[in-house]
Amino acid sequence: MELTGRIALVTGSTSGIGRATAHALAARGAHVLVSGRSEERGAQVVAAIRADGGKADFLAADLHDADSARDLAERAVRTGGRVDILVNNAGIGAFGPTEATAEADFDAMYATNVKVPFFLVAALAPAMADRGEGVIVNLTTMVAGFGQAGAALYGSSKAAVSLLTKAWAAEFGPRGVRVNAVAPGPTRTEGTAPMGDGLEQLASRAPAARVADPEEIAQAIAYLAGPGASFVHGTVLPVDGGRAAV
Ligand code: NAP
Repeated sequence: MELTGRIALVTGSTSGIGRATAHALAARGAHVLVSGRSEERGAQVVAAIRADGGKADFLAADLHDADSARDLAERAVRTGGRVDILVNNAGIGAFGPTEATAEADFDAMYATNVKVPFFLVAALAPAMADRGEGVIVNLTTMVAGFGQAGAALYGSSKAAVSLLTKAWAAEFGPRGVRVNAVAPGPTRTEGTAPMGDGLEQLASRAPAARVADPEEIAQAIAYLAGPGASFVHGTVLPVDGGRAAV
């Protein structure tokens, strides 16, 4: 129960990797603030955590700009008293040819994947720094680290998150806030279900040669959020079955 007494805000925890992360952090004793757009799935996640003896509350949020990020941060602080752990997990993953990408889709991807984490950190990290402790874990992706046809938009938005991770480690680390990221490989979630066989194909080039379960990504996030990672700052941890290595 290494996170007992910690307040953790996990964006996008009504589904997939975020939901698995909410469970993993609650199992370690954290009071988890579950967030997403779906009130119904949010209530289910909270009920499941409480049924396991954990602490959780749901904060509905449609995250698309700085105001929506600031509003969620304010409600999280009001509900939990403070936020010790922020997991920037909510994200859009869409693939396709560059020339077929509409401007509105470009803007929505960068708003959810880059702008919202940026303004959540702006809203929450200064108070962590004032207290001299805090943890931020960002979600990037293996296709932020190499070129993949069809992943120009998604990969570039997450490459921004990888750099933000290092920039924030430099900015907030000296005041006690550890900022790191996890870069998952193909993982079976509600979000990747429409990819069908494409997910297996993407996974096949990695040494592990299989798709991950969300719990395998959540374990890495929980490690970075916990005291076992006390000397880990500014790293982007590949949890991709070895794809980044080969
Ligand atoms: P998912 O199953 O699609 O779940 C996405 C979550 O984000 C949901 O809880 C969703 O909430 C929330 N969300 C999406 N847009 C939102 C918005 N505008 N406002 C508020 N909440 C929003 O996704 P996933 O596959 O678990 O992926 C989670 C993260 O890991 C993402 O950042 C993704 O890019 C990254 N990642 C995933 C994979 C993979 O293979 N799955 C690989 C690499 C990286 P509602 O459903 O309630 O709307």
